[in-house]
Amino acid sequence: MRNVIVVGSGCAGNTAALYTARANLRPLVVAGHEPGGQLSLTTLVENFPGFPEGIDGPVLVENIKKQAEHFGAEYLHGTVIEADLSKRPFRLNIDNEWHEARTVIIASGASARWLNLPNEQKLIGHGVSSCATCDGFFYRGKKIMVIGGGDTAMEEANFLTRFGEEVAVVHRRDTFRASKIMLDRARSNPKIKFLTDTVVEDVYDADQHLVTSVKLRNLKTDETWVRDVDGFFVAIGHIPNTRPFEGQIELDPDGYILSKGGARTNIAGVFHAGDVQDRAYRQAITAAGAGCMAAIEAERFLEAEGH
Ligand code: NAP
Repeated sequence: MRNVIVVGSGCAGNTAALYTARANLRPLVVAGHEPGGQLSLTTLVENFPGFPEGIDGPVLVENIKKQAEHFGAEYLHGTVIEADLSKRPFRLNIDNEWHEARTVIIASGASARWLNLPNEQKLIGHGVSSCATCDGFFYRGKKIMVIGGGDTAMEEANFLTRFGEEVAVVHRRDTFRASKIMLDRARSNPKIKFLTDTVVEDVYDADQHLVTSVKLRNLKTDETWVRDVDGFFVAIGHIPNTRPFEGQIELDPDGYILSKGGARTNIAGVFHAGDVQDRAYRQAITAAGAGCMAAIEAERFLEAEGH
């Protein structure tokens, strides 16, 4: 029986592990299907306080893990495939083995939705990105493309005009899911050009390990062409990793955990941390802060229960 099982090993999960380990709770961390979370997909992180020269995303998240292990956190390579949170102790099925815990911290994150282009995955971190705040700075004076027609795409396109010489928004339809205010802002930005009814067929050049161009197709005319691009930002939404908790933890219509204040979920003793609940900020530093909050709440919960 564990005092705490932390589900997820991104910035939120590792920070929750660090705090609960320092509180002598010997947490078990389930690394999940994307160990290290979103940070493991980025390169240089320049906005995590404390690193004036920046720090590599994968190094940052690995460092927090080592820090947690130093205080006794244990990591398990595996994924939660099923959960029984109907009674205590809580039970989690991790790769077909059931584990029991007095508290659970869900820090399973939200995975970026990708286009599934032939070369997309090979170029993540080399010009393909899902986070303008993280990577926009690297494209100063460069040609940037943003894919999507929602608020995130508009927000990222606007943000990226601070850096790029031009920002092309590529959207598969000619009407937008984005709110009017966000769309109007993007439309009135002279650096943003819209390519509607257009899809991306592939991104190049995997051989150079660098984004150089994309192949586009107009859905109405079926015309295809290649366009030079340096930064390729995919903004077609995120998928919160909450499937094993469906029907037990209250979720919003898109599957994000509904917070009951602080780090609390609808189930006493089960807490949330990071992007699995946060659709607004999604930053390493906010995820780390959320991991800290969840750990403190788990510690207080256990103390109140006499453990
Ligand atoms: P979203 O609203 O679901 O929009 C996703 C966009 O990506 C849609 O335009 C969709 O096209 C497109 N898309 C999805 N799959 C695609 C594919 N395979 N190929 C090409 N295009 C694809 O997601 P979001 O923009 O991330 O926003 C999520 C939520 O957060 C929304 O509720 C949004 O309002 C909110 N948000 C708010 C703010 C803000 O207020 N500041 C900022 C960001 C996000 P279709 O339209 O054709 O389906």
